[in-house]
Amino acid sequence: MRRALALDIGATKLGVAVIGSDGEARGWRTVPTLRDEGPIRVVARLFDLADAVVEEQGPVDVVGVSCGGPLDPRAGLLLGPLHLPGWDRVPITDLAAQRFGRSAHLLNDASAGAWAEHRFGAARGSGSSVYLTLSSGMGGGAVVDGRLLTGASGNGGELGHVTVRHGGRRCLCGRSGCAEAYVAGTRQAARVREALAAGRTSALTADATAEDVARLAPVDDLAREVWDDAVDALRSAVVSLVNVLEPETVVLGGGLTRAGDRLLDPVRHAVAQQAMAPIARIVRVVPAALGPAVCAVGAGAWALQQEETA
Ligand SMILES: [Zn+2]
Repeated sequence: MRRALALDIGATKLGVAVIGSDGEARGWRTVPTLRDEGPIRVVARLFDLADAVVEEQGPVDVVGVSCGGPLDPRAGLLLGPLHLPGWDRVPITDLAAQRFGRSAHLLNDASAGAWAEHRFGAARGSGSSVYLTLSSGMGGGAVVDGRLLTGASGNGGELGHVTVRHGGRRCLCGRSGCAEAYVAGTRQAARVREALAAGRTSALTADATAEDVARLAPVDDLAREVWDDAVDALRSAVVSLVNVLEPETVVLGGGLTRAGDRLLDPVRHAVAQQAMAPIARIVRVVPAALGPAVCAVGAGAWALQQEETA
C-alpha cells in the first residue's frame, strides 16, 4: 500500500501521521505550534516530529502538507495564513521535499478536511459533499461531482466567509457579515465581551467561551442572543451552499458540534424548509466522522492522488 507522510500546521498544534491509501492515520502525534517562534524554528520542530513518526511507521512515498490559507498550492507557498501572522512566502513544499527526499503537495486545511470526510468519513459514498468545521474559526470545503473544489489559485472553498448579513458584523478577514463573524467560537466570545463592556447583565463572564454560550442559552438572555445569531448564520450559510452545490451530504465538524442535535436540528430544519425542493429531499446534514487527524488524512490522501494522476 502506498503511504504519505502528512504534516498539519495548525494555529495551536502541529500534527504528523502516515496516511495509507485506506485513509488510516498511523502514528498520529502532535506538539504545540508556538507560532511566535517564527517559521524557521516551528518548521524545524514539525520536521523533527515527522522524522520520529517515519522512524516508527516506516518509509513513505510522498508528503502532504495541510495549512490554513491564503496559500499557493502550485508553488507550495504559505502566503501569510490568517492563523500564522508574518509567515509570508514560506516555501513549505520545497523545504519538505528537501528534508524527506519525496515530492510534497500543499492543500488548504479545511479543503483537506473536506476531502478526508468525503473519501473516508461521514460523506463517504456521496458524489458531492460540503464540509464545515466550526471551532475557534469557521472553515470549510466542498467536493463537487467527486472533485475537490480548489478554485483558480487554490484558495476556493472559503465557506466560512459566505455573507449571511449584508453590512453585518466585522469579520477577521476584513469584510463584514461573514458567517464566521457570528458562528466562530472566538467571535461568539468577542460578542459576549462587547455586550458586558456595554453594561449588559448576564450569567456569562468576560472570559466566557462558545461552550458557555451554548450551555447557558436556554436560561440567559445574552447567551440566547449570541447562540441564536450563531445558529441563524450557520443555517443561512448551509442553505445557500446547498442550493449552489446540491450535495448529498453536509458534514459539520469542529468543537462547536459538541452541542449535537441542538445545533444540527435547526440546520436540518432550515434545509428542509428553505432549500430548493428537489435538493431538500436529497441532502443529509450529519456530524463529522473523523477525529483530530482529519486534515492530515485529507492532505495525505490528496498527495497520494496527485502522484497517481501526475
Ligand atoms: Zn470573513
